Parts: sequence; structure tokens; C-alpha cells
Amino acid sequence: MSDIASLGDLTGKRVLVRSDLNVPLDGTTITDDGRIRASIPTLLELSDAGARVVVVAHLGRPSGSPDPKFSLRPVAARLSELLGRPVAFATDTVGPSASETVAGLQDGDIAVLENVRFNDGETSKDDAVRGAFADQLAQLADVFVSDGFGVVHRKQASVYDIALRLPSAMGGLVAAEVDVLRRLTDHPERPYVVVLGGSKVSDKLGVIDNLIDKADKLLIGGGMVFTFLKAQGHEVGKSLLEADQLDTCTRYLTEAADRGVEILLPTEVVVDTAFPSGDREPQPVVVPASEIPADALGLDIGPESAAAFAAALSDARTVFWNGPMGVFEVDAFADGTRAVAQALTEVTSAGGLSVVGGGDSAAAVRQLGFDEAAFGHISTGGGASLEFLEGKELPGIAVLERD
Ligand code: ADP
Ligand code: MG
Repeated sequence: MSDIASLGDLTGKRVLVRSDLNVPLDGTTITDDGRIRASIPTLLELSDAGARVVVVAHLGRPSGSPDPKFSLRPVAARLSELLGRPVAFATDTVGPSASETVAGLQDGDIAVLENVRFNDGETSKDDAVRGAFADQLAQLADVFVSDGFGVVHRKQASVYDIALRLPSAMGGLVAAEVDVLRRLTDHPERPYVVVLGGSKVSDKLGVIDNLIDKADKLLIGGGMVFTFLKAQGHEVGKSLLEADQLDTCTRYLTEAADRGVEILLPTEVVVDTAFPSGDREPQPVVVPASEIPADALGLDIGPESAAAFAAALSDARTVFWNGPMGVFEVDAFADGTRAVAQALTEVTSAGGLSVVGGGDSAAAVRQLGFDEAAFGHISTGGGASLEFLEGKELPGIAVLERD
């Protein structure tokens, strides 16, 4: 494996690190610094090894040119605060400020370059344009470390093309993600239970396709479950329904039965007559999944189903969970999600591997007050982890593993 040790002695070497520092901002205030914290161990490992560390990262979606709204300056400042030492900041990515900043580094120092997406070469679909930008980036460093898991599914200059130009290695954050995701796809310890929810079936087709023959049990909740219930012949009222996915859901149900994969759908659901909004107090009512009133919509799995899902998880040795069981953002519809999260923590305590993937699922776990350490792994890169589980090749990983 191309880990940092494979790069040899880093004393005095300029190391370009691709980190994921794409944090939520309110103006220039960072509202959640989780990604900055997660990037620190690799930066310290390199700094302790005597490297001159140059961090390249993006923030938001600027349109290929500088936009002060998306400056990484506040992120560099927070990184400095968290590290308790100065962090240099270059006001461009490959221009004079970057060259000067990198030239000024001493062994062990850390610098952050301005938002890499201020350069249209970063995300260009044109290989030559991206390559030319990667050439400029490569001039700033001797070696490259890929540590931004949230972007490894992107064929971008600072993720992919740069690794073709410099000796490269995987940082610890990316290595840990890849290790966990491989444990979910190659020889998972059994019983292996997959829990799927969230809003749409159509968002998750690739994951279902790839995991349906690997899992022993598939538990389905969230908005997507109503298309499955409808496919079984139930009326779902005003619930979220993807009519064009009915045949697909029928096929999954048949395929699972053929392969001996147990599929669990809720037998009762929590409904209301309107989607929750600020103007109206929720009026949750529990009804059988086969008797959803025409004027109601399902917003959570019911209490008996939540208990059945927890029971189905109780002997699991491996669990992958993606997608909340209900509209967890509103307390009245958060119990199903809470029960599943709780069951995952118990799998962890019993020595099994529990993995939470997906941006909203990770947010749900935090919002509901669970300790992140109670889960085996919470994926930092929603899109990248789902693409991995769909069996897609991730360009930013493949480029590091090529011979
Ligand atoms: P993730 O980001 O973890 O992959 P998704 O983006 O697929 O998850 O889905 C998360 C969203 O699904 C949440 O905002 C949640 O409110 C919504 N959701 C869950 N259950 C329902 C439901 N029954 N009806 C409508 N939306 C739902
Ligand atoms: Mg989401």
C-alpha cells in the first residue's frame, strides 16, 4: 500500500497534501470544524517527520475564479488555532504568493494555499487544461499526499492529475476510509445487515444493486420505503413515492427472496396530514403500513418496526447504514432513526463493525446526541463512500494504487 512511510525520509521535503477542508460557513464564521480536525493527524505526522507541509483544498463551489466568499483564509486561521501554532496562508494557489509562501517554509512548518477551485483548471473536463494546472501545482512540491476522502471520487487536478506527476501516497484519513469500506465489500463478517433509508430510492440504486447479494438482511425505512410498500400493493397516501421506480423495487424484493436475503419493511408507520413546517405543530399518528390514509403521509417508521429493526440488528457483526428512517430533523419523527442509531452503537459495543455513511445520516447521529466514538466508522465523504459501495472505481484511489 502506498502509505506515507513509502515516501521515505521527508526531512526538508516539500509535501503537497490534498485535504478536505470544505467546512460550512456562516459569512466567515466556521459553523462545524469537524473536517479541519479530521485533517490534523496527517498534517502533524508530516510536520513531525520534518516535512514542509503545503495544504491544498477547496471550499464551496466557486466558478473557477477567485471569490472572496469562498476564501480559505478563515479555515487556515482555525487550523492555526487548533494546532496552537502559526499556519502560513498563500492568497493564491499556484501564483506568486504560493511560491513565496512555500519558499519561506522551514522544516516542520505548515502552509495553506488559497481555494484550489479559484482556478478553472482544477475541475476542467479537458485533460490538457487540468494537466497544465497540475503541472503548476507540482512545481510547489516534491511529493504528494492524498488525504481528502470527500473528493477521491473526483477526477480533478489536485486529486488525480497531481498524483501522475509526483511520488504519491495515501494519507491516514483516506487509508482508514478505504480500509473500512473494503471490509464492507470483501468478506464482511456475518451476519451482515444493511439499513437503507433517506429520501429517494433512485439516489441509492447503485448501492442496493451492489449490496443486495452481499448482505444477509436488508432493512428499509425512510422516504424510499413507500415506493417499496406501494410495489407490494399497499396504498401510501401522500407519502413520498417514485412511481418510475416501482418495477425496480419489485425486482429488488424478488431478487432478495431468490438469494435468501431477508428484507424487512416497517409494518406500521408514523404519519401526519402535512409535511412538517414551522407553522404547524406536528400531529403524529401511528398506522399499519397497509392502511395509510389517503390524506396522510408517512414520516417515520413506527415504534414496533423500530423495535423489530433493532432486534434484526442485535446479532449483526457488520452493519452499513445509509439514510435516516424518517424526517429526523423534526423531533416527532426522529424515533425510528434514533432506534437504528442506538442499535448500531450496541453492535459496536459487542465488537462488531458499524458504519454510518451519507451526509444526512452522519448529521442525524450528531444531532440526536450520539457520541461519534460509539460507531465503528462515520464516513466523512458521503458521495465517495456511496460510489465505493456501488463498486465504482474512485479515480483518486486508483491513481495511487496503479503500478
Ligand atoms: P444521506 O445524506 O444520509 O444519504 P438522504 O440524503 O438520502 O440521506 O436522505 C436524508 C433526508 O431524507 C432527510 O432530510 C430526511 O428528512 C428525509 N426523509 C427521511 N424519511 C423521510 C420520509 N418518510 N419522507 C420524506 N423525507 C424523508
Ligand atoms: Mg443527503
